[in-house]
Amino acid sequence: MIDFSLTEEQQALRDMAHEFAAKEMKPNAAKYDRGDQFPDDVMQKAFEAGFITCQIPEAYNGGGLSDVDTVIISEELAWGCAGMYTTIMASSLAFTPIFLFGTDEQKRKFLQPFTDKMGLAAFCLTEREAGSDAGALKTKALKAGNEYVINGSKCFITNGGVARLYIVFANTDPEKGARGISAFIVPRETPGIVIGKEEDKMGHRASNTVEMTFEDVKVPAENLLGKEGLGFLVAMRTLDHTRAPVGAAGVGVARAALEYAIDYAKTRVQFGKPIALFQNTAFKIAQMAMEINAARHLVWHAAWLLDQGKSCGKESAMAKCFGSDLAMRTTLECLQIFGGYGYMKDYPMEKLVRDSKLLQIYEGTNEVQRLVISREVIGPIKDAK
Ligand SMILES: Cc1cc2nc3c(=O)[nH]c(=O)nc-3n(C[C@H](O)[C@H](O)[C@H](O)COP(=O)(O)OP(=O)(O)OC[C@H]3O[C@@H](n4cnc5c(N)ncnc54)[C@H](O)[C@@H]3O)c2cc1C
Repeated sequence: MIDFSLTEEQQALRDMAHEFAAKEMKPNAAKYDRGDQFPDDVMQKAFEAGFITCQIPEAYNGGGLSDVDTVIISEELAWGCAGMYTTIMASSLAFTPIFLFGTDEQKRKFLQPFTDKMGLAAFCLTEREAGSDAGALKTKALKAGNEYVINGSKCFITNGGVARLYIVFANTDPEKGARGISAFIVPRETPGIVIGKEEDKMGHRASNTVEMTFEDVKVPAENLLGKEGLGFLVAMRTLDHTRAPVGAAGVGVARAALEYAIDYAKTRVQFGKPIALFQNTAFKIAQMAMEINAARHLVWHAAWLLDQGKSCGKESAMAKCFGSDLAMRTTLECLQIFGGYGYMKDYPMEKLVRDSKLLQIYEGTNEVQRLVISREVIGPIKDAK
């Protein structure tokens, strides 16, 4: 039996997220898009509404939302403002390895406090020389007695400057390459964490993105997640969980653009009639509506597989790639429907175009998603060198 209907709880969740996005995010989106202040007030309200800790298991006082629930609210929040959504999503990205790989003690010590008091977390994988090739990261964590000493630099870290907790990927056995990578839980107050330049970004300007350096940062051995050498797997499994929500964000941004474009097309009169009556505009709108539905179904399917505990590397990659490419195409088409006004900052369309672009880059570029998909679809090739 295939059932596409949402449960009553899921409908209520979606309505709550939509109302939050409409009341708290959308009206503040242009203000925080200027990029000169962090949306502390909106994040505090997002915490109070339970969005920031929604995926932390109920056993640790979190919302315990399933992956399907998460993509449903992700679409709504990104519809409100992709930049603010990124702040919430990046925190979940850092919580995920703890609830997937942490011990009960680690979950109590590091996740539970986030459910009592507003706070954000950051996932520190990328380095200047190790972007798509994350296995080549150079940050080291050398064991000294009962602790690890972390040294190295990370770049493009979302929430890096505002987080209370970091998940840091570092190599504990550099000779082993990617198989030497380990993941550590690092509290913000640990000496030696240096926050570097804050990036001046094209879009998602409500989010904080920084360079970070770890200078002799000492963490107790019990802050290791899983085992030594498991870090690459921790990162990849985490991304399997978080890529569908990026696809959902693409659907939310595309939907926001389409809603604006439909309203505009119905009221903008040229040659004596609303431009929505020109078949060119109407067909564009039909095409975009179709693609938005298709992307949502890919996203829901990937999330459903996750909830069933089934393997979903390919499907998560498809959801992320299709959803973000859709956002890029749709926002550009909708900007075109606005004509010259779409190009002006007074109208919301140019922000949506800028915001879409990042969805194709972070959490693994869409080229990397195509690599993941093609490897699985093509399978092993005899005689491949
Ligand atoms: C605003 C922002 C926020 C971010 N937040 C975080 C965060 O919180 N934590 C974190 O760890 N990282 C974060 N990132 C990093 C992001 O995940 C990387 O930028 C991304 O993985 C790509 O790495 P790169 O920028 O080094 O590009 P590169 O890897 O240098 O890629 C450059 C180009 O080459 C292509 N390419 C690379 N390898 C291949 C290949 N094998 N086949 C085909 N094409 C390929 C890429 O697709 C891309 O088009 C963030 C990035 C941005 C821009």
